[in-house]
Amino acid sequence: MLLVKNGRVLDPASRTDAVMDVLLGGETIREVAPAGKIAAPQNVEMFDATGLIVAPGFIDIHAHLREPGQESSETIETGTLAAARGGFTAVCCMPNTKPVNDNASVTRFILDRAKAAENVRVWPIGAASVGSKGEAIAEIAAMKEAGIVAVSDDGRPITTAKLARQVMEYCRSLNLPVIEHAEDISLAAGAVMREGVTSTRLGLRGMPAAAESVCVARDVQLAELTGAQLHIAHLSAKSSLEQVRSAKSRGLHVTCEVTPHHFTLIDEDVTYDSRFKMNPPLGAREDREALLAGLADGTVDAIATDHAPHEPALKDVEFDKAPFGILGFETALSLALEQLVNSSRISLMRMVELFTVGPARVLGMERKIAAGQPADLTIFALEHSWTYKVKESASKSRNSPFDGRTFKGAPMATIVAGRVIYKR
Ligand SMILES: [Zn+2]
Repeated sequence: MLLVKNGRVLDPASRTDAVMDVLLGGETIREVAPAGKIAAPQNVEMFDATGLIVAPGFIDIHAHLREPGQESSETIETGTLAAARGGFTAVCCMPNTKPVNDNASVTRFILDRAKAAENVRVWPIGAASVGSKGEAIAEIAAMKEAGIVAVSDDGRPITTAKLARQVMEYCRSLNLPVIEHAEDISLAAGAVMREGVTSTRLGLRGMPAAAESVCVARDVQLAELTGAQLHIAHLSAKSSLEQVRSAKSRGLHVTCEVTPHHFTLIDEDVTYDSRFKMNPPLGAREDREALLAGLADGTVDAIATDHAPHEPALKDVEFDKAPFGILGFETALSLALEQLVNSSRISLMRMVELFTVGPARVLGMERKIAAGQPADLTIFALEHSWTYKVKESASKSRNSPFDGRTFKGAPMATIVAGRVIYKR
């Protein structure tokens, strides 16, 4: 048993914000009480959380662990270790591995590897179509049986409206969210960043914001047609956010996530350095402002990292040729504190919600600090000052634009199923 003592418990589900003790017994929370009120059983292990925030375990609803098939960039073991260091207790891994997670045997392989790694929980996302090729629907029911929590063809959109409709109808009957990487392929073709003054100045091909929002419009209409749950991945454009807001106001089951890099950086930050190349690309200043407003007003449901490791041999090439994506796990919480909380954009409680209850709700789950709940906790400091050095990352890759950035606030410990799997 483990007694987490004297921490400031922040639990969005019960709106608790108080100094409490939390007793973990095996895989579940045993008791939560004001500090000093739990009669500690003999030989209980202690974790002194004085001065620290104790939150429900953070969930990352969007990550790439690269295994099977691209183990030189990341493995389930290194990825989940990096996730633990970022304060995440569970990560959802996208199916664009080699082979693609489009059938139950790949799903089971991922879960077996995650079990062997004994780090954070891994919740696989299955492909919507076979090979994520956008032609035939994947074996979604069999994958659900094996343990997927959602479907997506992430890395690309579900290619046609007809297939997207079919996937949504199927997932509605299975009660699975459909996660869309919203991108109109024809508008985005050949582009490496957002279209605008900066892309012109750099001489790089840009895609308009509409490359995303046209696809969001299609999918919102299909969600309305089918009654399915639609979740927009890594939403980056103001026009996309407005559609999600309007869909929610009409009572549709439409949700979305935003990444730390999209609420921190904009297209003007892009240089010829490929660490600024991601998809969707960094938006305009007004997009970032809209995302910040959406994070504050509840339109955005979750902060997701889109952790996308690429080994140096692939990523350290000229901008046009580099793959899209950056690391995300180890900087997500600190960027959220810096950009959202320390700048007074949102409350600390709301930030915790965006990492916990928010993504859990998208997945049809609960997240709270209460007796009987899974013993997953994220413990972090508001004041701890540190510098992110990517060469010390637990990830196998080094592609982060935040290398060398100094932060105030950091993950201090990650507890999964009652076990401290990371301590700073
Ligand atoms: Zn994507």
